[in-house]
Amino acid sequence: MIKRILVTGGAGFIGSHLCDRLVDAGQDVICVDNFFTSQISNVEHLLGRRNFELIRHDVTHPLFLEVDEIYNFACPAAPGHYQYNPIKTIKTSVMGAIHMLGLAKRVRAKILHASTSEVYGDPPPEHHPQPETYRGNVNPIGPRACYDEGKRAAETLMFDYRRQNNVNIRVIRIFNTYGPRMHPFDGRVVSNFIRQAVAGDDITIYGDGSQSRSFCYVDDLIDGVLKMMDAPDDFPGPVNLGNPDEFTIRELAERVIELTGSSSRIVQARPLPEDDPLHRQPDIALARQRLDWEPKVALREGLKRTIDWFRSVDISTFRAPTPNY
Ligand code: NAD
Ligand code: UDP
Repeated sequence: MIKRILVTGGAGFIGSHLCDRLVDAGQDVICVDNFFTSQISNVEHLLGRRNFELIRHDVTHPLFLEVDEIYNFACPAAPGHYQYNPIKTIKTSVMGAIHMLGLAKRVRAKILHASTSEVYGDPPPEHHPQPETYRGNVNPIGPRACYDEGKRAAETLMFDYRRQNNVNIRVIRIFNTYGPRMHPFDGRVVSNFIRQAVAGDDITIYGDGSQSRSFCYVDDLIDGVLKMMDAPDDFPGPVNLGNPDEFTIRELAERVIELTGSSSRIVQARPLPEDDPLHRQPDIALARQRLDWEPKVALREGLKRTIDWFRSVDISTFRAPTPNY
């Protein structure tokens, strides 16, 4: 059966890949975005398709549509983007969740919410890797809190709407994801390092580069997202979706230099940003067991594909966030 599916944040990095997959599967897709951190070019290739519709809308305002499923991905995700206007970030998370849950309740749609590994904050060694049962170590008043606490509140709302209004929910906790269509100037580590390596500029490590992340290629993530939407209703999550292969930031820099053949130098550009988590690695036992999902694309292969994309686009056409959104 063809479903009418709403994707908020559908013009963004992950959202646009999700729209691609849903459109290719023949679903009727409505993409909603205010283009705060994205460009129409991410979904331009879909505009001529009969089963794709694009709406400019800000999810901090209510939205009235008739849909069967909602993927709620609208929210700036890179630290530089979500710290640009922190009040707007928390509004997007919380009011966006309320509006999408209200819509789901009214039309009895199933709703999947894109939460984040940031709900775990900066986990201590005894909680490494992080299973879904770990309740997190978030600084509620720090510079990352607008995002972390916004996402935590959105998770709370999801489960309250389930308990109170019987809304059919799914919550995924996404770990660092990368791939084509990442905003080249979003300040995230993969986009920074590739952009710098391709241009022959210095590769900017923050701190000493011993902090670590686990990087998931976007196609793998989308497989998990789709599986979670189709999971049995008695499994609302939260479920971790990420690649458990962990790398230090210095290892990532070395890998990017090797794969680009760049002559860039690695420099310690500045101290570690405030509240920057030291280590992050998903425990994906639950996703393996309940969704039969695990990532397939190794970092080397995923980076190659991402580097090819960075070389194929004119990065000067990517806008930085502006007050006019
Ligand atoms: P992105 O910035 O590329 O995409 C977010 C999209 O949401 C953009 O198109 C942006 O314009 C849109 N948006 C922002 N505020 C909006 C608003 N008020 N109304 C309507 N649209 C709005 O980031 P992404 O990496 O694709 O992240 C997508 C989702 O996945 C986010 O919810 C993010 O928190 C979550 N996530 C991403 C990662 C990751 O590593 N990429 C990790 C954890 C969670
Ligand atoms: N980082 C870095 N150099 C950069 C950008 C980021 O060393 O040019 C570090 C950052 O301090 C963090 C890690 O890379 O320790 C991942 O940062 P990112 O912003 O990609 O995502 P996060 O996982 O922190 O949300």
